Amino acid sequence: MLTLDFHPTGRHFLQIPGPSPVPDRILRAMSLPTIDHRGPEFGALGLKILSGIQSIFKTQHPVMIYPASGTGAWEAALVNTLSPGDHILMFETGHFASLWAKMAARLGLSTEFLAGADSDEQLPHAPSWRRGVQADLIEARLRLDTAHRIKAVCVVHNETSTGVTSDILGVRRAIDAAKHPALLMVDSISGLACADYRHDEWGVDVTISGSQKGLMLPPGISFNALSPRAIQAMKSAKLPRAFWAWDEIIEMNKTGYWPYTPNTNLLYGLSEALTMIQAEGLPQVFARHQRWAAGVRAAVTAWGLPIQCADPALYSPVLTGVITPVGVDADAVRRLIHERFDMSLGTGLGKLKGRMFRIGHLGDSNDLTLLATLAGVEMGLKLSGVKLADSGLPAAMDYFSGHPAPSLKQPG
Ligand SMILES: *Cc1c(COP(=O)(O)O)cnc(C)c1O
Repeated sequence: MLTLDFHPTGRHFLQIPGPSPVPDRILRAMSLPTIDHRGPEFGALGLKILSGIQSIFKTQHPVMIYPASGTGAWEAALVNTLSPGDHILMFETGHFASLWAKMAARLGLSTEFLAGADSDEQLPHAPSWRRGVQADLIEARLRLDTAHRIKAVCVVHNETSTGVTSDILGVRRAIDAAKHPALLMVDSISGLACADYRHDEWGVDVTISGSQKGLMLPPGISFNALSPRAIQAMKSAKLPRAFWAWDEIIEMNKTGYWPYTPNTNLLYGLSEALTMIQAEGLPQVFARHQRWAAGVRAAVTAWGLPIQCADPALYSPVLTGVITPVGVDADAVRRLIHERFDMSLGTGLGKLKGRMFRIGHLGDSNDLTLLATLAGVEMGLKLSGVKLADSGLPAAMDYFSGHPAPSLKQPG
């Protein structure tokens, strides 16, 4: 029987695209005693974290840290910058983009949900949501809006439901080409600290992120990175907000504190994660995820199964979506793998339910962890009666052995 006390030998393979496996080092840092959140030690910790997290977003501007899941930070971004009835443009890349749009509607915003072409001639039975944001459609829509009724453009950087990334700089350029004043808001909840991201350079006004994906922390904290224009918009935005309000947080953060009790032990974990990421170097972190993703794709390709992302330029470094053959319930395959091999894979969300599963390659991982993951997936597919073109393991092994990991940056 499965109870919360059930711990089989070895470790569970948490291969979902968030929460990601947490490094022991971070768990140990989090086990330190909770301290006074108004005391002097806390202020020093707060300042260290607030400046460290700016370097991950690549911003010089304030970053809000909320004791909330990513969904809370989505809400914070909207309520701090917009007014009831404001019209916003969102792009349907997948399930998370859809949830964000649903939230915006519940908050009383008027949402327009753009979608790109969905059918696929190469693969007529393929499910939808296989491509990224189409900046040209955004540009065309903004050009029509000569009265500037559209107040914000909202897009997802790494669509975790599909494993498709989007070109955020391309969206910025589309807004600029249309000479439109809309704010640019980006969900990089699962992209941050896995895929290249540049809040200031790409002209993003609010970036939303969370703790339990690329930052390798347990769930429970989330972020809003701001721009001067976003802070300006806050001054006239009329949506009700109290807990989420940026102004008090910005003020108290100047000395390393928060207007409420922050998530002290998760902040110890964040401090440790920042130390680890900075020691490795962001370019190395991004290259590591790209390499893992390429190794996993080599196996999927050898199996002969289609990858959910139809555009190789947009393959996610965070996760890979695998489409199961017509008639094979991807969730049944996932359940079997969980029962037989103690591994969790990501389910197909929304429109993709039962049609695909997701392999996470983020967090505390390495080549051998991923090879074991692929072995578990391969056994599960075969046991489910899926005819594979070939074994994926030799392909992944060849990829990993033929592409040595770049060595860690030497300190000093
Ligand atoms: C995980 C995720 C969310 C939701 O975050 P929660 O922490 O579950 O509230 C939103 N968007 C994306 C892209 C995500 O990956």
